[in-house]
Amino acid sequence: MPLRLYNTLSKTKEDFVPLDPKNVRMYVCGPTVYDYAHIGNARPAIVFDVLFRVLRHLYGDAHVTYVRNITDIDDKINARAIERRGTRNVPVLDVLRELTEQTLAQYLKDVAALGTLSPTVSPRATEHIAQMVAMIQTLVAAGHAYVGEGHVLFEVASKPDYGKLARRSLDDMIAGARIEVAPYKKNPMDFVLWKPSDANTPGWESPWGRGRPGWHIECSAMAEEYLGETFDIHGGGIDLMFPHHENEVAQSEAAHKEHPFALIWMHNGFLNVEGEKMSKSLGNFVTIDELLADWPGEVLRLNMLRSHYRQPMDWTVAGMKESWNTLERWYSVVEPVASRRIGAKFLEALSDDLNTPQAIAELHKSGPEELAGGLALLGFSAIPEHIAAKKAVDTVEIARAIEARNAARKAKNFKESDRIRDELLAQGIVLKDGPGGTTWDVKK
Ligand code: AMP
Ligand code: ZN
Repeated sequence: MPLRLYNTLSKTKEDFVPLDPKNVRMYVCGPTVYDYAHIGNARPAIVFDVLFRVLRHLYGDAHVTYVRNITDIDDKINARAIERRGTRNVPVLDVLRELTEQTLAQYLKDVAALGTLSPTVSPRATEHIAQMVAMIQTLVAAGHAYVGEGHVLFEVASKPDYGKLARRSLDDMIAGARIEVAPYKKNPMDFVLWKPSDANTPGWESPWGRGRPGWHIECSAMAEEYLGETFDIHGGGIDLMFPHHENEVAQSEAAHKEHPFALIWMHNGFLNVEGEKMSKSLGNFVTIDELLADWPGEVLRLNMLRSHYRQPMDWTVAGMKESWNTLERWYSVVEPVASRRIGAKFLEALSDDLNTPQAIAELHKSGPEELAGGLALLGFSAIPEHIAAKKAVDTVEIARAIEARNAARKAKNFKESDRIRDELLAQGIVLKDGPGGTTWDVKK
């Protein structure tokens, strides 16, 4: 069965036929690096990692190019950098680099713990300003962009098919969007390619004065640099479809004499936490780093893949517990197995628009060799030490002890609850009390 992928552009599942089977090309919008990544950000990282692995399996490891950019210049980052600089007398661009490098290192550590492979290229926006300026110059020269008060704007009316990805007409977009009306815009939907920076804001010299790029042009310029004008797959979260991806298509195709940009557009659905939209104000904002303190990365990975990538998903403690049980059971079966095989039904499920829940259901029915092969293809190749260590302890006994401790705490018998905690600690079991209840880990 050929690989079939749902294309947001055509709203159908399509047979995947690469432009060049010797170089299958994929671009995914990466993180904006100013703060810890949350578990929602882990979804595209894991989903497109699975697609990367499937493509490598089908076309060969050396024949897939996966680009995931790093947005290291953006107004949210600038605001943080200015705040972080405080009264220090140092260039704001230096502080921005310090902030983005730290955040990026944390992000790479987080996604590595989730079992993702490094993309082939991870370009930083600040290292591609010249390519962005060149693309903007092309757009101005071709009559698709204009200059107003130090800004350069993309003129959406110059692109009759603007809205083809999100399937909205210009009038609907104007009515529905919270758009910034500005005196230098011809049409309220026109979007910024370049904007001026004051002395306090990071900026680069350009034909339009000292300034910085808009967000959308970053991805268009970096995709062109590493993948060419036309490439196979563009991915990201559904929240990015409009306006970010719509604007990427418009700019790139306008700059490339209407040659198509990405042939297939893929969008992962949104992730909620315990039934609610994740937000700092609701207090249910969970970072990957926090979760990794309590749960092995592979448990988080499996939990993510138990939902189909296009569906909205609810992230729960109960789900993570089930995923952990499943992994423990699987690892106890595959450990002694030396050979691996990819099951036909398993691969068929993955080939059907990355149907990971179905692929996992097939693994439940598979023998040890197919289970080992399937787990390796999905990125569960190593058995982390602490999963193995946890298997060696009596989990039922620990659960009983935690229950007894909870009962003691409820009865305000803290002497007893502390005694139980210390007794477990003496056995190398560390308890952690969180909003979702008490979890445990093996002392590292
Ligand atoms: P950002 O760093 O905010 O630009 O987001 C990085 C990636 O995470 C983008 O592909 C977003 O679409 C995706 N993303 C952000 N929040 C969520 C969420 N709650 N569920 C799924 N994907 C998300
Ligand atoms: Zn992008």
